[in-house]
Amino acid sequence: MKITVAESAGFCFGVKRAVEECFHQIENADGPVYTFGPIIHNDQVVEELNRKGVQVIYSEEELEQVHRGVIIIRSHGVPERIQKKMESLGVKVVDATCPFVKKIHTIVRKAGEEGKTVIIAGSPDHPEVQGIMGWAAGPVYAVQSAEEMERLELPARTEAVLVAQTTFHAGKFEDIVDIFRKKEYYNSVNNTVCSATDKRQTEAREIAQQVDAMVVIGGRHSSNTRKLYEICMEECKNTYFIETLVDLDTKPFQSFSHVGITAGASTPKSIIEEVHRKMSEEQTFQEMLDSSFKTVRNGEVVEGTVIDVKPDQ
Ligand code: SF4
Repeated sequence: MKITVAESAGFCFGVKRAVEECFHQIENADGPVYTFGPIIHNDQVVEELNRKGVQVIYSEEELEQVHRGVIIIRSHGVPERIQKKMESLGVKVVDATCPFVKKIHTIVRKAGEEGKTVIIAGSPDHPEVQGIMGWAAGPVYAVQSAEEMERLELPARTEAVLVAQTTFHAGKFEDIVDIFRKKEYYNSVNNTVCSATDKRQTEAREIAQQVDAMVVIGGRHSSNTRKLYEICMEECKNTYFIETLVDLDTKPFQSFSHVGITAGASTPKSIIEEVHRKMSEEQTFQEMLDSSFKTVRNGEVVEGTVIDVKPDQ
């Protein structure tokens, strides 16, 4: 069995930067270290940071109880209102919002200041989208599909600006853009799907087209991993979504000759390597089994033949 691991699998630039900031603050902070929401959508990393003392703040009420130490804003960013509240607490605020997300904050703020409406291609439940909405200085909507874009009706003379959640499905964004351009309130399109996401999705699709099975590794709550899974499923029906090695059942893979592996932006390298190692071991074991059931008779390889063993002398 051949195994192809996507080069783009694992931590993206923004996630790596936010996680490294956590480790830096563990060593250097004067007081407790907090993150506003889990730093990434990966339980194993969040648990490891928690063991080292990093506490997660889950709500504005919890935030109000913090009066010393450091609060780290994760790569998804937060609404402006939350950032201002953090700054008013008298604690150190470390902004690890990914620069690609920051760029969207700037676009939507400017659009609002110019009296334009903002439409975000993304999930309204996703923290990044909630953060972007919180920087818009005017009306803002989130749509998740071309159908939702079609149904969106805005008041006459509205001018609208379209942006995308950085991890949005690139193909679905194009569908939304097609409908948006036909709307009378169309003003401008900003394709803000980040280059790391674009590369990861393109590579996953290309690998999925060539293999018998795909393994997609990532947190259950990670929306970018779910999108990778959807993309791989479009190309390869034998696609498996696992969070860690524990979820991997290698039995179905014994019938595949070429398997691909990719992983979401919040998946640590160690988990990808563990899965890769396990699959390579299975492959070696299977090859040993196969070869032990081969023998040669009259110059021909005979599969599945029990080799005669001489009795002990
Ligand atoms: Fe930044 Fe892109 Fe990673 Fe999001 S997916 S954190 S935008 S690099």
